[in-house]
Amino acid sequence: MDLADREQRRSRAEGMLEGLAARGVEVVATTFVDNSGIARVKSVPLRRLPQLASWGAGFSTSFDRFRFDDWIAGSGQRTEPVGDLRIVPDLDRVVPLAAQPGWAWAPGERYLQSGEPHPQCSRLLLARLTEALAAQAITARCAVEIEWVVSDGAGEEFRPGFVGSGYGMSRLIAGSDYCRDVVTSLEHEGIEVEQFHPEYAPGQLEVAVSSESPVAAADTSVLVRSTIRAVGARHGLRTSFSPKVDVSGVGNGGHAHLSLWRDGLNLMSGGDRRCGLTAEGESFAAGVLQRLPALLAVGCPSPASYLRLVPSHWAGDYACWGLENREAALRMVTGSEGSAPWAANLEVKCVDLLANPYLLFAGLMAAGLAGLEDHSELPDPVDVDPAALGEETLAERGIERLPTGLGTALEAFRADEVLTRAFGPDLVASIVAVRQSEIELFAESSDEEIADALRWVH
Ligand code: GLU
Ligand code: MG
Repeated sequence: MDLADREQRRSRAEGMLEGLAARGVEVVATTFVDNSGIARVKSVPLRRLPQLASWGAGFSTSFDRFRFDDWIAGSGQRTEPVGDLRIVPDLDRVVPLAAQPGWAWAPGERYLQSGEPHPQCSRLLLARLTEALAAQAITARCAVEIEWVVSDGAGEEFRPGFVGSGYGMSRLIAGSDYCRDVVTSLEHEGIEVEQFHPEYAPGQLEVAVSSESPVAAADTSVLVRSTIRAVGARHGLRTSFSPKVDVSGVGNGGHAHLSLWRDGLNLMSGGDRRCGLTAEGESFAAGVLQRLPALLAVGCPSPASYLRLVPSHWAGDYACWGLENREAALRMVTGSEGSAPWAANLEVKCVDLLANPYLLFAGLMAAGLAGLEDHSELPDPVDVDPAALGEETLAERGIERLPTGLGTALEAFRADEVLTRAFGPDLVASIVAVRQSEIELFAESSDEEIADALRWVH
């Protein structure tokens, strides 16, 4: 970013002030997501937006090593207090916040003080990988499905905010005003809600949104979650996106949906491969499937993630794929007959909402690109709950459980040349340090203690 870029950003922001003020905006917040999945924020009064847009706001370099509990997983060199980065908002997406009157939000990107991109900025990384796909004339459309639970009041203990059955109209009625406010707030923020429903577990809800470019989908995932949290606060409800709120129950997933397009045609449909995949659609999917154990280091980034990732809980903990199979880590979705050209997509089921969505999509892009390059092929799809196949059949078919702990996923990540090359050495070192420090933190903890520690953080 040179001086001319900064000047252009400043004048663009100046041109936005009047319109934002007319919509009641007084303060603007900008966020980045750290390696532990926490959205970190800086904000300015509206009149300072041109300054923020051109020169950014300071953020210490140590944030790359922040753990979920704000502990810094340092390198041992004690260099963390030194140096600074600048967070700069993306002016294409300044959104007045429906559940935080007077506030607007924009996703941020981090730059070095020299004006060069920060090599560890996950949003810029995802943009680069999206461009690598564009070099093959392919665009990706992505979305994150958000599941969460609401709890009554501010207490540490989880007390389901609404009574009523899973998927039940009874729960929708119990939370009628809140549920309406969630949907309308998201729509007012320009998010296209595809559908909303009460989910399976007590107090659990889900929203699905339309697909977008990878970066926009990751931004939307951040915005949807902060909006849901803000709506909850206005209704006296506490929100949890943790993968395991209640150790004995069903968890919250953060399934990632993905389709590839060329010249307006969906490469996940209309092809001559199984389930209608084109050769490129299949290779991309196969690249992802092959690297799922390593991808879990970004998609299931906490020991708490592995409390959710268990058989027969619709979390997709077997490294296999299948048409509409909710127990396969990769669920191929084609929709009703006739809808595949626009609806067909790949759902990565195993991942959860502790993941930094930019890193997650970056990992999926890198894995898929490697699959394209290698012309990878998928194994046979699985059409039952893999847990029902029995050890022998699983072994015969080469279907393995995904890592059952963060340590194993982290080893796979460190050994994966495609992912580590795409992320770069500095970012890999930060991710490894944060994960290792979390593994050590919970080395002696029970499942309940882990779930308690993560329940209200993200
Ligand atoms: N809650 C389940 C999970 O942990 C997913 C349920 C569903 O398939 O929507 O991922
Ligand atoms: Mg669901």
